[in-house]
Amino acid sequence: MGATYDAIVIGAGIAGLGISGILARAGKKVVLLEKNSHVGGRAATFKKDGWVRSIGQHAALKGQRYDTLLQTLGVDCPREYFGDLQMYYEGQFKSILDIIPTLVARLSPEDNLRIAEKLLNPAVDLDALDDISADVWIKEIITDEVLLDFMRMATVIMTTIPFMKDMAASTLKESIMIITRTMETWLAANGMGEFMEAMAADIRRHGGEIRTNTPVERILIKDKKVLGVLAGEKIVAEVEGEFGNVTTIEAPVVISAIPVWEIFKIAPQDEFPQDFVKKAWNVSAHTANLGLTAGLKKSVYEGRGLLMVDYPSLGYPGSIFMPTNVCPNLAPAGYQLFEASIICDYDIRKDPEQLHHMMAMLNKDLQTWFPGWDKQALWIKNYFHYEEPKRTPGRAGRHRPDYTAAGIQGLFLCGDSIGSRCLPGMECAADSAMTCAEIVLGTMK
Ligand SMILES: Cc1cc2nc3c(=O)[nH]c(=O)nc-3n(C[C@H](O)[C@H](O)[C@H](O)COP(=O)(O)OP(=O)(O)OC[C@H]3O[C@@H](n4cnc5c(N)ncnc54)[C@H](O)[C@@H]3O)c2cc1C
Repeated sequence: MGATYDAIVIGAGIAGLGISGILARAGKKVVLLEKNSHVGGRAATFKKDGWVRSIGQHAALKGQRYDTLLQTLGVDCPREYFGDLQMYYEGQFKSILDIIPTLVARLSPEDNLRIAEKLLNPAVDLDALDDISADVWIKEIITDEVLLDFMRMATVIMTTIPFMKDMAASTLKESIMIITRTMETWLAANGMGEFMEAMAADIRRHGGEIRTNTPVERILIKDKKVLGVLAGEKIVAEVEGEFGNVTTIEAPVVISAIPVWEIFKIAPQDEFPQDFVKKAWNVSAHTANLGLTAGLKKSVYEGRGLLMVDYPSLGYPGSIFMPTNVCPNLAPAGYQLFEASIICDYDIRKDPEQLHHMMAMLNKDLQTWFPGWDKQALWIKNYFHYEEPKRTPGRAGRHRPDYTAAGIQGLFLCGDSIGSRCLPGMECAADSAMTCAEIVLGTMK
């Protein structure tokens, strides 16, 4: 017989940590179960030999939903602000703030006003844009080829979707609205993992419990009501392999903070209402980040900006970034962290040959802007990682699952695959944690 809690949260990413923190602060007895040995999910970082390693640098937007969540939890750690997005434009890297005036000057004042009104008007019904391709929508507003090309590049970073034709217009519209609210972003000075650890410490301080190495194997549902979960207690043996016990943990509320379609790995699909199942699978196609991180002996670029580029051989847009130019603590003194990546389809993982080819092309293309950069590398780590749920037309906004699996009492959902269209991912995860917490606490009154 397991312990009884007010709520069980599955998954210690930003969403799971966030909602656990809010519930613990509200005096609820909460337990957070995480399958890995660490908290943070996709935003985790690790320090080794003076290098802070991550699955990709995480930039947060100043004063938006993730910041609100951190404030709510009283969590803060050293951070560094940087606002510079740079593009390879007319043969050199230029800040987009310097490029925009030249673009504005290409058009008449009337055209500029018309475009601004269309792109920034908050009264537009986003639901109506969920099924339309961003490519079609934007071409009705902007006809100038140079401005269109600029939008194409800028939106990759905002939406983590490589091509506008694959983007829902509502996603593009909401991204533009969010980005214009703040051009300022920040990096965690010592890695985002420090924030994740601080969130975990806050949960414990408020009486919450966190169990790592504890994969949830099944959500227990009876007569359309949640009873708790069956969780594995994973013990990593010194000899090869793992072993452990399975425990029943009981609670009237279970909050799944894992990607929404993965819930069907731990609960039978036929327990759920059909509409929920359809929506959950609807967002299950997702984008991936293919790239490399390298530790360089010598700096190959001094700028603090995030560089947006079109990789010529790969045929994909992507980014290059030297995070140590903003946060020197991420590497041993004098060394440079170098990151380069593209956003592509997660399904590419099914074709290892293609994956290796693309990685080789990425390495080759980097020579375009930084000839001989690899000669400075102490180490290079290639990676391919699931990034975010796709937001193609018909899969964004109102097509996404909501915070409840209506029909199953006591089961709630949060994470970056739930609810809003808003971007980037950490914003979605934080937003979902706060919204879901409000709903859950409402039912506990
Ligand atoms: C390379 C890369 C770069 C990115 N850059 C940015 C960026 O610059 N800015 C930004 O805002 N966003 C960025 N993102 C997106 C951001 O990381 C995610 O949107 C966000 O971290 C998602 O948080 P989450 O809590 O919803 O999910 P996750 O972080 O995926 O957390 C889910 C957790 O559940 C755990 N779990 C899964 N199944 C089980 C189970 N059965 N039992 C127990 N635990 C389980 C997982 O181990 C994980 O810890 C990036 C993502 C990637 C991959």
